[in-house]
Amino acid sequence: MVRPTDSVSDAAASPGPVSFGEFERIDRIFAPLSAGAPGAFGLTDDAALLPELPPGQAWTVTVDALVAGVHFLADDPPDLIARKALRCNLSDLAAMGAVPAGYTLALALPRGMEDAVPWIEQFAIGLGQDQAEFGIHLFGGDSVSTDGPIWASITAFGTVSGDRPLRRSGARPGDDIWVSGTLGDAALGLLVLRGQILRDDVTESLVGRYHLPHPRVSLGPALVGTAHAALDISDGLVQDAGHIARRSGVAIEIEAPSLPLSQAMIACIDSDPDLLHHVLVGGDDYELLFTAAPEARTAIEEIAARLGVRLTRIGTARDETAGVKVLDRHGETLGGLERGGWTHA
Ligand SMILES: [Mg+2]
Repeated sequence: MVRPTDSVSDAAASPGPVSFGEFERIDRIFAPLSAGAPGAFGLTDDAALLPELPPGQAWTVTVDALVAGVHFLADDPPDLIARKALRCNLSDLAAMGAVPAGYTLALALPRGMEDAVPWIEQFAIGLGQDQAEFGIHLFGGDSVSTDGPIWASITAFGTVSGDRPLRRSGARPGDDIWVSGTLGDAALGLLVLRGQILRDDVTESLVGRYHLPHPRVSLGPALVGTAHAALDISDGLVQDAGHIARRSGVAIEIEAPSLPLSQAMIACIDSDPDLLHHVLVGGDDYELLFTAAPEARTAIEEIAARLGVRLTRIGTARDETAGVKVLDRHGETLGGLERGGWTHA
């Protein structure tokens, strides 16, 4: 782990049982997270070596930063903040069809909090849990103090077949549009946390989806060679479908009645039908949206069954002006979604 001059120094760390300096923080808390990556040298050098890859495999790299007050709430549990930061990146790797291998971390803590041992320990425990779950390791990192809010930036590395990564640009007219899991749950979870949805029966599942995405790490690589285009939905279905539409030069037609809804979402819509728009424009879904030829339907259903992932066909790519259209049950176009998408808190 790099030891920057702008980090809290050993001298600046206040003494006592709940504080320690940066070197100790690295050695005690972060170095063990690198144990499975020999090229990380136990975080004792200036940089790490990435493992060698078999012929035909390529490294994929992505970075995502999460800022308190924007992407999470400052008093969210630190282990969940860590896991969310990591999982957003794993979702991006999955969208490329890549298998995750490891990550680097940059963490900024407000002055006075740099030596908050319990917070940092909990943050690292969250990383450790997900390292075990996803078979990845810490390659390196940095920590700094800031006059601003907490933020965490993770750069994740994965491997993918060099000539077959999933791209946003591969959709073809006539392709089916597919989506994994269910949509809108995390957006409703945030409304629950803000006290705007008051239903005890849905709190756990919706807030769980907001705090802890479930990146489709198995699905992404399984779609390589079958899907024509893919991305992960982080900013809302309509907005992200627009990226595939523009990059591929197709129109994407989504049939609203086909959209996959969770039981919690259905319960909420029953009492407030307006909540349905979160399925279309809510954020933080971290599901995969992909396109494939109609001939691939059986293969895709087999992938869904093998991985135990819900995959739903929600529309069609058309040879029309690039854009996204959402049709209701009567085939009428729903309006007002053009500027839709996730507006951060
Ligand atoms: Mg993404």
